[in-house]
Amino acid sequence: MGRTIALANQKGGCGKTTTCVNLGASLSSEGYSVLIIDLDPQANATIHLGIDIHKLTNSIYDILIGGQTNISSIILNTPVKRLKITPSHINLSGAEIELVNTIGRERVLKEAILPIKDNYDYILIDCPPSLGLLTLNGLTTADEVIIPLQTEFFALEGMDKLLKTIQIVKEKLNHNLKITAIVPTLFSKNTRLAQEALKKIAVHFKDKITGTVIRRNIKLAEAPSHGLPITLYAPSSYGAVDYKRLALEVIKR
Ligand code: ADP
Ligand code: MG
Repeated sequence: MGRTIALANQKGGCGKTTTCVNLGASLSSEGYSVLIIDLDPQANATIHLGIDIHKLTNSIYDILIGGQTNISSIILNTPVKRLKITPSHINLSGAEIELVNTIGRERVLKEAILPIKDNYDYILIDCPPSLGLLTLNGLTTADEVIIPLQTEFFALEGMDKLLKTIQIVKEKLNHNLKITAIVPTLFSKNTRLAQEALKKIAVHFKDKITGTVIRRNIKLAEAPSHGLPITLYAPSSYGAVDYKRLALEVIKR
């Protein structure tokens, strides 16, 4: 049976999308079939995988709100073999409000993916930077959560709220949900501040922290504008090495 993993953290810019796309591509390189579900109205994962969002006729919005029921019809190929995506759309920014009066509003995505769940080894859900209904749908659909955590002075700020939300979802909506890993991201090995942040994170979260630390790498920041994941854009970069290591670690967890 496949694994469904949400990439979540209400902080913007901590590496959710970068991790979703490049972990997905690295898992594909290892031979697994992967589906990315882009749940962020900003559609960064969709753009990162080279899809022209202005030419899209359908997106995850149509599934969550538009009454379209066949999720297979919105799945797109990407430049990576074995990696597919359900694209997002800016319309999704209204979803938090539009979903409010829907019965079972936290479970819409979970039900939508049921028919295709077994077609993939990994389904990775890129959540938006908030703890609203979209992220709740992501957490209710997933079996696991991976939390990208920026190695900065404020790293632990906001984590209590995130962990509490995950706990509530586990109690009320999705009993099997577990935190698989917390991934330190955007690490600058030459700054003492980053070293100290990493130490603090490691003490606080112990074995939830991955052995893999994602280093700051300019190639990772450049890749989205080329519409390619790091595995194709710069396969020998630090970024590609780190995400391959992360993939191997996630496979074992
Ligand atoms: P989120 O999805 O959590 O908002 P992103 O993955 O979009 O965060 O990352 C925020 C910004 O930082 C993006 O411009 C991205 O390209 C850049 N970035 C993320 N991780 C790295 C890294 N390891 N090295 C360099 N730039 C990174
Ligand atoms: Mg993002």
